[in-house]
Amino acid sequence: MNFIASLTRDSGELNTMFRLWQEHGDERDPFANVMITPLFMPPNGKKVIQNWREKGIIKNLYFDSAGFYVQMGKIEYTRLFSELLMVYRNEQWADWYILPDHVPTSGDAEETIWKKVRDTAEYSQMFYEELPSELQMKSIPVVHGFTAAQANYSLQAAIKLKTGYIGFGSFSTSGKSSSINKLTPAAYTLLSQITNKIAQASIKLHAFGVSTPPVVHLLRQLKVFSFDSIGWMKTAGFGKVYMPYVRAYNITYKDKSAQTITRYEFEEMQAITGHTCFFCSSFQQLHEKRYYRIMHNLSVMMDMMHKVYTPDHIHLILDRYSAKYNFINGEIK
Ligand SMILES: [Zn+2]
Repeated sequence: MNFIASLTRDSGELNTMFRLWQEHGDERDPFANVMITPLFMPPNGKKVIQNWREKGIIKNLYFDSAGFYVQMGKIEYTRLFSELLMVYRNEQWADWYILPDHVPTSGDAEETIWKKVRDTAEYSQMFYEELPSELQMKSIPVVHGFTAAQANYSLQAAIKLKTGYIGFGSFSTSGKSSSINKLTPAAYTLLSQITNKIAQASIKLHAFGVSTPPVVHLLRQLKVFSFDSIGWMKTAGFGKVYMPYVRAYNITYKDKSAQTITRYEFEEMQAITGHTCFFCSSFQQLHEKRYYRIMHNLSVMMDMMHKVYTPDHIHLILDRYSAKYNFINGEIK
């Protein structure tokens, strides 16, 4: 499974993260696969990404369609179509291009969800037809839906485009502006039905906007090919840290509603998960510095991708720290 770092940020943030990893990270390469939203990327950030691409730091670059920004109310779905088409036609320096999707949220009425599912199918087809043929081969249609009927409709439309690579974007949403993706048992079941259906057709599946390590684990069980994540960065801003197979816990104690852990509990987690990195070698530094939390979380994501854990070890960690993800336990063995 491939981890794709979602990096629609400005040059200052990108350069700081890169420098910190060069100075204190390890030989693993968290910036090999990157996703950006060209339509909303600060120009100075885009330059940095272009530079990384030319130097070969980025091996696989994905252009996202900005469906998330429609969800946040920052652009109308119909306007996205023409603006995105212009960007994709003019800037052909990515490896993969996400087709424009209309993202349903958990709070939407049934009718609205169906409308968005149909929008995604129809507009993706039209958009695909407008693309130059080299880009058609590199495009990724997105599947949406909260019920099997919706997801099937969406999946059939995506398969028709014969792209060989399809994305799934409808995790249940919660939080401010429905912006936090979570993998509920219902979404998990739906996703497993989709993976089963496309497995025989040799189509690769991408999962959009994945956040915590336990969810990464669930996606691996489903043999998802790739996922993108910005959670490791965002959650650090909320004072939270990951550990392998452990959900985010707050260590800055500024947010009274967040579930916190003490220094002692954090050190216990380090021992149980076997995670070490420069950025969490001092709890005080991790507590004080947002960038250290960002880079530690990134290092944890690298552990999730590259470190081998036995099924028993995974069980033990999930049981202890991420109990609500236990619904998957039966499928790990
Ligand atoms: Zn660490």
